[in-house]
Amino acid sequence: MSLYAMKIEKLSGIGKKRAELFNKLGVFSVGELLNFYPRTYEDWSDITDIADVENGKTVCIRATVHSAFQTGYTKTGKYIAKTIVVDESGACELIFFNNRYIDRMLANGATYRFFGKASNVFGNVSMIAPTFSPDNASSEVRPIYNLTSGLNNNIVVKAVKDAIKLLPEKINDPLPGNLRTRFQLCDLKYAIKNIHFPESLQALEMARKRLVIEELLVLNLGLRGLKNRKRSENKNIINIDYSSEFESFLSFEMTNAQKRAISECISDLKNPDSSLNRLVQGDVGSGKTVVAGSVCYTMIKNGKQAAFMAPTEILAEQHYNSFKEIFKDADIKVALLTGSLRQSEKNKIREQLALGEVDLIIGTHALITDDTEFKNLALVVTDEQHRFGVAQRAKLLSKGKNPHLLVMSATPIPRTLGLIIFGDLDISIIDELPPGRQEIETLMITSDKRDRALGFIKKEISRGRQAYIVCPLVEEGENDLASAEEYAAELMLNYFSDIPVGILHGKMKSTDKEAVMRDFSENKLKLLVATTVIEVGIDVPNATIMMIENAERFGLSQLHQLRGRVGRGDEKSWCILVSDSETEMSKERLKTICTTRDGFKIADADLKLRGPGDFFGSRQHGLPELSISNLADTKNLKLSQKIADYVILDSNNLRNERYRALKSEINRLFKTAGEDSLN
Ligand code: ADP
Ligand code: MG
Repeated sequence: MSLYAMKIEKLSGIGKKRAELFNKLGVFSVGELLNFYPRTYEDWSDITDIADVENGKTVCIRATVHSAFQTGYTKTGKYIAKTIVVDESGACELIFFNNRYIDRMLANGATYRFFGKASNVFGNVSMIAPTFSPDNASSEVRPIYNLTSGLNNNIVVKAVKDAIKLLPEKINDPLPGNLRTRFQLCDLKYAIKNIHFPESLQALEMARKRLVIEELLVLNLGLRGLKNRKRSENKNIINIDYSSEFESFLSFEMTNAQKRAISECISDLKNPDSSLNRLVQGDVGSGKTVVAGSVCYTMIKNGKQAAFMAPTEILAEQHYNSFKEIFKDADIKVALLTGSLRQSEKNKIREQLALGEVDLIIGTHALITDDTEFKNLALVVTDEQHRFGVAQRAKLLSKGKNPHLLVMSATPIPRTLGLIIFGDLDISIIDELPPGRQEIETLMITSDKRDRALGFIKKEISRGRQAYIVCPLVEEGENDLASAEEYAAELMLNYFSDIPVGILHGKMKSTDKEAVMRDFSENKLKLLVATTVIEVGIDVPNATIMMIENAERFGLSQLHQLRGRVGRGDEKSWCILVSDSETEMSKERLKTICTTRDGFKIADADLKLRGPGDFFGSRQHGLPELSISNLADTKNLKLSQKIADYVILDSNNLRNERYRALKSEINRLFKTAGEDSLN
């Protein structure tokens, strides 16, 4: 039996309650538990002399209990127990709260290792509630897992130890021996053991590298598989290009970049050997919508239906309204389908879709429900693709007979990465903004100038403009809701008492969010106080100011996306970044935003300045969840690509028996994108 089919309840000591806690962490099966890698490690082999302890650092000391515990109560009534431990270099005070048994756990005269944050104030070294182990048992690198309340590290450690015991003697390694030898990677069993309980730091590195490479390899091969599949099956070939007819509907001329993207799409559509499978990447405001509109029009005039899926209702409505305007003299039928329409309206539109009476349907996830059917869907467009997973894309695609796919994204991703992340798509880049775009003046201020900035915002609002204020980004554990609401309340009380203010935060129901955004776009609200949920979505040309609090907490690309909400009309626009951060790095990062408006340059800078760890901080790429690797890890990405090339040749496109385990790993990672997508 596969360990993925074995529920974690099968492990001793894990009942229903505990299993639920593991489930919360995304661990349902023993196999998944083995894939639940430690968040970090404590190196208990790296001993610091007490005399060398630096204030505030986390350390491991090896010391002997030197005195009996002194106990008592603090002023607030907490039970407190203290003792002194010593090594050859000095003494350290240990303090424990609310632990009445501690004196029985630490024997006077015995030696232990203590691990934790230490303080050193003028040579007085102390540790509060360190973890400890008898000296002989603890020279090791220990795993620390992500936890959830009710589940402590020891429980996870024990469960993982038990799970490792269940590994069969001979494991079905997705990386066959020839591959491991050739690319110097350790075997799977060794990797699993050592990623959880490393024999040494070197062993940990070996294990990590092997697991990272395997995961990236699987991703890489899986994406290639998707691409090939779509390629070979599409039969919706078109004959005539209607893009110049489409242009005659517009009140402006397309930019060269737009024209190029359209003609790339059309030539894919015409090609009998391949289908359109393309990502159109263009900065905010570069005019991606009309590119998609043009391709839809050509498809429709060739007798088929097209669907355009947007991530939010308001965005869908905006697209619908602009397409209705563009197509007012065209003989095609455009309709909108969103969740909040009345049931009778939805039914009617679904009926028309099934009969082929609607040519272009614009909508939200409502488009992929089971009761939506098409007569001859041949083109699917998804807007702001990073909000859709591969699975949702696949679901919409399944509504037609292998329809073409066009994906629009404003997320600027460094080119090298884009090639891998969107490995299943060809890429067109719109690298030009329509002429006559307004500058967005971007300024950096410290918080002591905030009052003046707010005064400026007020003045602009009194001139009829609208503004956004983006709340301090909450850090993990802080409460998003409280912070947005408190912050807005204070603003309303002190600055904008006579102005209609809307609040938008991540915890709101999507219908409530939509209502607020709609009021803002209809100019009923003048100021929108928001967390980053405005990042994607609304196009309100009358909004000309954005102020972003704690700007240093945001990624550069995120700031750039946020800023793209202003500067969409004819009026000059401003973006004000508030930050008191003193570090050189954050100053440099914010300066990049102030001086460039090129999303790709900003993305590159983001990657360079913040390093790979943070670039994809929030999952923005819609790919299967990765458990250990990082898509910004360019070095290993390149290696995995090289290995993928080798595998394709060596395995005769994964047909060779030796690669069976690898193939089933690929299917497992991509199972949400359609079970048999890779055959
Ligand atoms: P995005 O790429 O961010 O999705 P949109 O497609 O929403 O950008 O376009 C932003 C605005 O620019 C829209 O109001 C659109 O009508 C307008 N626009 C698009 N292309 C051109 C063009 N070539 N010339 C002038 N305006 C354009
Ligand atoms: Mg757009």
